[in-house]
Amino acid sequence: MALFRRVPFLTCEVSPRRKVKINLSGCNFSCRGCFAIAKKECGRSLSVEKLLELLVKSCRMIYGELVDDAQMTGGEPLTDPDYLFSLIQGLRSYGVEKIGISTNGYMLNEDVVDKLRALLVNYIKLDLKAYSKGVHMWYTGKSNARVLRAVKLLHEYGLNFYVRTIVIPNIVDAAEVEKIAKFIGSIDENILYRLYEFAPEQLEYKLSRKPTEDEMVKAYNAARKHLKNVEFFIYKPSNPSIYKTAYDPNYKVVEVRADELLETFMKIDKIAKSADPEWNVQFFTMNQILKEAA
Ligand code: SF4
Repeated sequence: MALFRRVPFLTCEVSPRRKVKINLSGCNFSCRGCFAIAKKECGRSLSVEKLLELLVKSCRMIYGELVDDAQMTGGEPLTDPDYLFSLIQGLRSYGVEKIGISTNGYMLNEDVVDKLRALLVNYIKLDLKAYSKGVHMWYTGKSNARVLRAVKLLHEYGLNFYVRTIVIPNIVDAAEVEKIAKFIGSIDENILYRLYEFAPEQLEYKLSRKPTEDEMVKAYNAARKHLKNVEFFIYKPSNPSIYKTAYDPNYKVVEVRADELLETFMKIDKIAKSADPEWNVQFFTMNQILKEAA
């Protein structure tokens, strides 16, 4: 039986590196700070075969050839593990060498982690939103017990992964980050841990604000007490020579958008442009790529 998932868009990074992010919609969390369009089921319903066709044709159109780095993201790519496994196998059969997954970790039990290891998944980006049970439940709507277990499993099964957290003032602050880091450090102090800034611009309601640079440094220092490899990213730092930045002036993407969602994307582009005047995403529609009638 063919497996289907709804896909709102592909993100094709063209600079500074070539990499395609496949956004699979639908999520088992309801994060209060989430502004991802893919959080809810949306976009075009595609079988694995059709999605691979879209990917291959998109790459030919945008890069002139298939890329060798593909990352599954969302939404949550693991809400349907069989679809994801089949997609990974399909990517491999086309010769994609580097395959990664960005996940909230909720579905990473022994069987899934073992399968990902067998499929030779090259990297996993695991979000750990909060350590305190109450904070995690309030923020995501789900317990973090399975996510904490996932960190242990990924380490135990020897997968290449790192953990990341978004710093959200008054919700996930330095004290909460330290709890997360302490937990990760209790597994292995060498696990890479990355901290990112909360970006409030695209949320339709007020949850918190962007953390200050001092707050990011404080969170970093708190994590460093327990871990050797901690990195934090400030989108546009006041002093780029001091802080690592998530902003790259050479960063350029071309998106492949579901025709069904073009109005929604127009709204997103407008909000993004008001937050960052340099925002200018080129895109093709899925119909243009697949040459189907609208
Ligand atoms: S896990 Fe990710 S996609 Fe899902 S609701 Fe949270 S932030 Fe959004």
